[in-house]
Amino acid sequence: MKCSKDEGFSKGELQRFGNIELSPSSGVLNYGQGLFEGLKAYRKHDGSILLFRPEENATRLREGAERMCMPAPTVEQFLEAVRVTVLANERWIPPAGKGSLYIRPLLMGSGAVLGLAPAPEYTFLIYVSPVGNYFKEGLAPINLIIETEMHRATPGGTGGVKTIGNYAAVLKAQSAAKAKGFSDVLYLDSVHKRYLEEVSSCNVFVVKGNLISTPAIKGTILPGITRKSILDVARSQGFQVEESHVTVDELLEADEVFCTGTAVVVSPVGSITYRDKRVTYGSDGVGRVSQQLYSALTSLQMGLTEDKMGWIVKLK
Ligand code: PMP
Repeated sequence: MKCSKDEGFSKGELQRFGNIELSPSSGVLNYGQGLFEGLKAYRKHDGSILLFRPEENATRLREGAERMCMPAPTVEQFLEAVRVTVLANERWIPPAGKGSLYIRPLLMGSGAVLGLAPAPEYTFLIYVSPVGNYFKEGLAPINLIIETEMHRATPGGTGGVKTIGNYAAVLKAQSAAKAKGFSDVLYLDSVHKRYLEEVSSCNVFVVKGNLISTPAIKGTILPGITRKSILDVARSQGFQVEESHVTVDELLEADEVFCTGTAVVVSPVGSITYRDKRVTYGSDGVGRVSQQLYSALTSLQMGLTEDKMGWIVKLK
């Protein structure tokens, strides 16, 4: 779908996956005017195809577009485009329980612009790819390192929206962490350098007794849809949940730590390294709470438990 700066998107069309044409002076290539989303379609044993809270992705894209000076598809246009794309690619959706179809909507300033300004034309597209289950055989803990020099977001910046530049900002720290054998990087706030923010592509939670805490959304953390859902699921299971300022000390003294995101679902954290200190959680790094919330969320997403919250959209 394409549109100019002042008009809305019109009806899109299906195209075979392949390269797209883009002006060398397009807004996205020169000034990073781009946003994306990520969601998954699951196949159920009875053949139906399910999406998990896709209207949340549509709304988050619209909020991000406002920050990035872009027009965005309406929620209805977004949902229809996802529906048409997924159904046209139905053969790529893995069998029930064997994975999902990852859906990547992209919105970008595709028009040519030489001086710094919002682009005159925009493109919204969606591509899909089958992905396996993140955990093949039971949950496996991830090992994180806290980054003390680089930050992924600063107050007033674009850290709270899913813009492409946020991901460029984390590549250096993430590559260095991976080269040292860590799974990923946990970022701190850039002002006090002691409050947790998030991981390169997922949110973080800390468990102490019956209390589950996660950093509050304040413009520098992506409002994850899995994060929001886990807060509700945990609450419904009798946990006390809190969105607050979570310090490094609270993290290091936690009973359990886990991360949430569309790709990682609920990932238990086995160890955290902070400066020269390494803290491990539990005997095998897979805490009871992480395991319980992972099972609750995945069975909901795969349509195995009753959808009491009304989060599932059935495409067919
Ligand atoms: N934080 C960042 C920076 C991310 O890229 C993602 C993945 N979209 C998340 C958190 C988790 O968000 P969600 O649960 O909506 O996938």
